[in-house]
Amino acid sequence: MRIFTASLATETNTFSPMFTDLTSFKSSFYAAPGEHPDTPTLCSAPLIACRELAREQDITLIEGSCSWAEPGGLVNRATYEFLRDEILQQLKAALPVDAVVLGLHGAMVAQGYDDCEGDLLSRVRALTGPDAVIAAELDPHSHLTKQRVAMADLLIAFKEFPHLDFMDRARELVQLTLATVRHQITPCMASFDCRMIDVLPTSNEPMKSFLGRIRQLEQQPGVLSISVIHGFMAGDVPEMGTQLLVITDNQPKLSQQLAAQLGMELFALRGQSMPDMLSVEQGVAELRASAHGPVVLADVWDNPGGGVAGDGTLILHEVIRQQLTGVAFGTIWDPMAVQLCFAAGEGAVIPLRFGGKSCATAGEPVDKIIEIKALRASAWQEFAGSKVPMGACAWIQFDGIDVILNSNRCQSFDPSLFRAVGIVPEQCHGLVVKSTNHFYQGFAAIAARVLYLDAKAPYPSDPKQNNYQKLTRAIWPIVEQPHLTADESKPDCA
Ligand SMILES: [Zn+2]
Repeated sequence: MRIFTASLATETNTFSPMFTDLTSFKSSFYAAPGEHPDTPTLCSAPLIACRELAREQDITLIEGSCSWAEPGGLVNRATYEFLRDEILQQLKAALPVDAVVLGLHGAMVAQGYDDCEGDLLSRVRALTGPDAVIAAELDPHSHLTKQRVAMADLLIAFKEFPHLDFMDRARELVQLTLATVRHQITPCMASFDCRMIDVLPTSNEPMKSFLGRIRQLEQQPGVLSISVIHGFMAGDVPEMGTQLLVITDNQPKLSQQLAAQLGMELFALRGQSMPDMLSVEQGVAELRASAHGPVVLADVWDNPGGGVAGDGTLILHEVIRQQLTGVAFGTIWDPMAVQLCFAAGEGAVIPLRFGGKSCATAGEPVDKIIEIKALRASAWQEFAGSKVPMGACAWIQFDGIDVILNSNRCQSFDPSLFRAVGIVPEQCHGLVVKSTNHFYQGFAAIAARVLYLDAKAPYPSDPKQNNYQKLTRAIWPIVEQPHLTADESKPDCA
């Protein structure tokens, strides 16, 4: 059996000013064929799962390129075409193959391409012909287009948000791929458009129980996999929104029926999934009033993982205004300030302007006389077994406040990001992180309290206010009753 695997992934916030080019991929993650490390990344887990099985079974694995860029704005057209064509040429050279297993994200938008993954899957299908099995792992924050469902045999998204199960889903995908190649199963996919967009963390209710129900239903005979596509509200594309995706073993009716039933159950849960959020002022006041630390404050809407810069200063300005001490910020993205700190050296006390440069809504830059506590030429944080590069980092201190300035935009995943520069997070009274929910698992383990702060910017977090130009369907919450009916289920059974 010959299997080709590769990965091409990012999440595109079409409202973001942070355009994505080849440098963005190379500074986040890029591995040429055979150069992928032993540890998976969020979107290249299928390659690691393929390696595991190829070792045990009689499988020839051909590895293509794998790349991932930190979420950002529109992908440069030439960059997308270069990375796509590189993989297609590798696949062409590997033919004939029995299966292609891809690690995608599912929310990549490039100049001239609203549906990069649909485009890639179509070109892969054109090369392999109809008989090869085409499978892909997706991030649930993706757009499930009809083209993708038509071109692939197996699509599976991470179930959990935080996405801690990316390796489990990758192994499941590869197992089902092998079973399909061996004609032990005939996958039949059906999707259902929930006509909604929401943020759906699974670490709390009601999504925790909904996920439990899905796991139960997957035990039912003939059901191979069920994915909830959460959707990604910062991507202005025609098919943006939440969908249910069901794969059965050759039972098209069951696929459609389950997708529609679960899709409507999820629609009934709309607007209930986000944890309570505090204003910036309230959150900082709560931190001040807390007797015990560390209190973790999540800057939910300045999350580089959602494609914004991560250089926002709204919470920092409030902490300064309320004169709090013992608060550490991890991180604020500012490569220019990092460069100035490196030039001044560890221990130097310098005037520094940092943060608040990327857009008009995320707060003003901060001007302070700061002490450079530590410099790291290359710092890393961990996330569920993967390693996330933070780039060159400077730990600066002023007025009893610590800030990590980083040069590689990245979401705050795990307390290891503080330890990477020498800050002991357990000893801080407050920890301010930039993340919507991926931070939760790692930080809850050391936190006295976890608070979600709604600074209202810069992520386009209110679909009713977002200026969608390409979204054509009526979806909640833009439309209160988007008139769901059973005949809107879209059977996509091969
Ligand atoms: Zn995601």
